[in-house]
Amino acid sequence: MTELLFRDDGYLRSCRARVMHGDGRGIRLDRTVFYPMSGGQPGDTGVLRLSSGQAIAIVDTVKGVAADEVVHVPAPGSVLPEPGAELVAEIDWDRRYRLMRMHTCMHLLCSVVPGAVTGGQVADGRGRLDFDVPGSSLDKEAIASRLNELIAEAHPVGPRWITNEELAAQPDLVRTMSVKPPSGTGRVRLMEISGVDLQPCGGTHVRNTAEIGPVIVAKIENKGRQNRRVILAFAE
Ligand SMILES: [Zn+2]
Repeated sequence: MTELLFRDDGYLRSCRARVMHGDGRGIRLDRTVFYPMSGGQPGDTGVLRLSSGQAIAIVDTVKGVAADEVVHVPAPGSVLPEPGAELVAEIDWDRRYRLMRMHTCMHLLCSVVPGAVTGGQVADGRGRLDFDVPGSSLDKEAIASRLNELIAEAHPVGPRWITNEELAAQPDLVRTMSVKPPSGTGRVRLMEISGVDLQPCGGTHVRNTAEIGPVIVAKIENKGRQNRRVILAFAE
């Protein structure tokens, strides 16, 4: 199995690793800093630098069939490395950091808008959540103003692990109906924004809400009678 270094430290930009397997789908390593697409957060891009000097551009990262299996998708036409080859795996940090900032802001949005979350997606520079709320009850300016307050208040953000039983006893912790919390090992990873939000999440986050920076509500779309899509973007 792949050791998931991003799970404990989202700020790791690179790591040494060994090739376990490469095929038409992509390259598996024994450890990685590349986050695979899941939970509404896109997979990382970057480069694998082999000790031979060969550099393989990675255009996407996805989950494999097995749990904790990460597949690094090389640019078309890349020469695959041999099993056992040693390399340095390096993510496109600027892009990842924007994704971490926007992903963390999605947690704030969850706490600002009342109502169940029915879907969500983070993209580079933008993010959206769908809420099960009626009518035109959402105010664009009020949401933006509350978000920017929470960002400026500089709340610490960090993981907390609980058991499956503890989570089952507190079903209200699961705000995102479309995203299954990471579990299966008997314990569940929660992300806590001190005093603001607590929910299961396996994605990568910044350590403090101040790192998000100012945001705007770009649009609130009507996606059906009970479904409102709130789209955020960075203000700068
Ligand atoms: Zn998250």
